[in-house]
Amino acid sequence: MLVVMMNDATDAQIARVVDVIKEMGYEGRPMPGAQRTTVGLVGNDGRVDGSRFESLDGVAEVIHVSRPYKQVSREWRQENTLVTIAPGVVFGGSEIPIIAGPCSVESEHQIVLAAQQVRDAGGSALRGGAFKPRSSPYSFQGLGKKGLELLALARRETGLPIVTEALDDEGAHLVAEVADCIQVGARNMQNYSLLRTIGRLGKPVLLKRGMAATIVDLLLSAEYLLAEGNTQVILCERGIRSFDPSTRNLFDLTAIPLVQKLSHLPMVADPSHGTGLRDKVIPMGRAAIAAGADGLLVEMHPSPDNALSDGGQSLYPDQLARLVREARAIADAIGRSITSVPGTAPVAQG
Ligand code: PEP
Ligand code: MN
Repeated sequence: MLVVMMNDATDAQIARVVDVIKEMGYEGRPMPGAQRTTVGLVGNDGRVDGSRFESLDGVAEVIHVSRPYKQVSREWRQENTLVTIAPGVVFGGSEIPIIAGPCSVESEHQIVLAAQQVRDAGGSALRGGAFKPRSSPYSFQGLGKKGLELLALARRETGLPIVTEALDDEGAHLVAEVADCIQVGARNMQNYSLLRTIGRLGKPVLLKRGMAATIVDLLLSAEYLLAEGNTQVILCERGIRSFDPSTRNLFDLTAIPLVQKLSHLPMVADPSHGTGLRDKVIPMGRAAIAAGADGLLVEMHPSPDNALSDGGQSLYPDQLARLVREARAIADAIGRSITSVPGTAPVAQG
C-alpha cells in the first residue's frame, strides 16, 4: 500500500504516517518525489485497511498496489529509478552505459588489456567473472579471489567501474568489497537466500533474467532485493531457452519495453548470452538500444579464440568499438545518448 502525501505536506505529517504504519506492525518508507512524498507500507502479505490514513493531516490518497511484486512496480514509484554504479555511470536516465569485457578474468595481462580496450572503444564499465557458474564442473571455474584482485587492478589502470558476479553467500561478501555492481547470474535468479544476502550488502546489483523465468518471476526476484532495502537494482534480459538450437538462447527484445512499463527499475540487455553467436551480437545490441534498453552488457575479449569461456560469443575489440559507434547513432535517433566517461573514445561519429 502507498500513502500519497499532499504537495505541501510537512515533515511532521509524513513522520506521523510512518508512526501509524509502525503502530500497525509494518514498516513505513518515505519516498520523496519531484512533486510530493509517498510513504510505502512494507511487511504486509495481504491487503491492509487504508482508511486510517485517509483522515490524517497531509494525506492526499491511499493506493493499493495490485501487482504481486510491490516495490519494483510502477504503481509504487512512477519515476524511473536511477542506478549509479560510479560517478557519471548511471542507468535509467537518458544516458545509456555500455558494460563490456571478457566472460572470465583469466590473467593480469588479459583483464588489464581488455579494460583498456573497453575504455578505448567507448565502454563505460568493465565486466568479467571471477566466480564462474559453469554448466560443467570440469570447465574453468574462474580465478576466484585472485580474479577480484585483478579486476581492482584493471579499475585502477583505467578508471572503469567493475561489474562482476557473485555465486554464493561467501563470494557475495568478497565481491561486495571490490565490485561497483554485483551481478546475479541467470542460474541464480531464483536463489532467494542469495538475493536476500546481496540485498543487504548496500551495493548496486545487476540481476539477470533466468533462462526459464517469466517477466513476473524476474520482477519478484528483484522484489527480494528491494525488500532488503536495496533500490539500486538493474534488470537484464539475457535470452531464454527455446526449442530452436539455432541460437544459444532466444533473445527476448519485447522484455525490454514490457519490464519498463511494469517497473521503475532500469532494464539492460545482454546480446552476447542472448544469442551466443558473435556475428549476432552487434545487430541485436543495436536492436536492444532501439527497443529502449537502459544499457548493454557485452562480452569482448582481447583474443576471443583463446578465451577460457564464451570465446565464440565474444566480440573482438574493434567490433566493440563499432557497436558503440552504431549504438550512438541509434541512441541519438531516439533522444538518448551513450554514456561517455572521461578518457574514453570521443563522441564524434567515425
Ligand atoms: C555471464 O554474464 O558471464 C553469465 C554467466 O551470464 P548468465 O548468468 O546470463 O548466463
Ligand atoms: Mn559468459
